[in-house]
Amino acid sequence: MDKYVTKFSGFSYLFAMLVMLHSVNVSAADKDSLASINTLVSPLINDRMQVVDLSHIQKHDMPAASALSRPSQEFFLQLKNGDNYNIESITYTPHTGTHMDAPYHVFEDGMSIESIDPTVLIGPATVVRLNVSGNYLITKNDIQDWESANAPIQEGDAVFLDTAQDKLWEDGSDSYIGDGYPTLATGAANYFVGKNVRFVGVEAISPDGVEPNAHKVLLGNGIPVVENLRNLGKIGTSRFYSIGTFPAVEGATGVWVRLLALVPE
Ligand SMILES: [Zn+2]
Repeated sequence: MDKYVTKFSGFSYLFAMLVMLHSVNVSAADKDSLASINTLVSPLINDRMQVVDLSHIQKHDMPAASALSRPSQEFFLQLKNGDNYNIESITYTPHTGTHMDAPYHVFEDGMSIESIDPTVLIGPATVVRLNVSGNYLITKNDIQDWESANAPIQEGDAVFLDTAQDKLWEDGSDSYIGDGYPTLATGAANYFVGKNVRFVGVEAISPDGVEPNAHKVLLGNGIPVVENLRNLGKIGTSRFYSIGTFPAVEGATGVWVRLLALVPE
């Protein structure tokens, strides 16, 4: 969708870095926007920056919904068998592990992964901390209350919902999924659409229960959803930068992502 092109995203950062590195002369009008881009890009080149890994290790025995097959790895060439290389086939359902959903996940005519802006995961971010558990339904009011007490979500932000659900990951599917997980009310999803956020990230397997209501609101407005995140509680600030990308898998409904938080100290 063209929407991604107009959003302030990773391409702008890369562009700004190139501009700075090569000391390109810019017009007076451009200098203002460049100054603000430089302010935003500085954490990427500042060595006083904490990096937090937001992706789980993708493995066979990680929690997953019962309908989904777990990742498997099968070697067909092996050094120990006299082959010149170790080479395996890896089979996985994209909706296991830390992954991003494409609109095609819930819309028959929605775009699939290879059409999503590869820089969408790069840019400014807000983490919304919610003291909730079980099958709590996160409302627009919950989000606004947090904003009032902390930092407002800004246009173009990635929004991460810190619910501490990641602490149940190692306990397995029964605890992580079966005992319930916080989901996002349609009103809250619409609120994010109104804020024109870049993507929404959650620590649970989904922002939805059985019905994909929040998925449809977000993906229907070109806002990808990233699920099964971890370590949001280790980000010491409200605002930070997310960085990551993903393979351009043709026709895929989702894809594994490796996502990092760059946290200015
Ligand atoms: Zn998914």
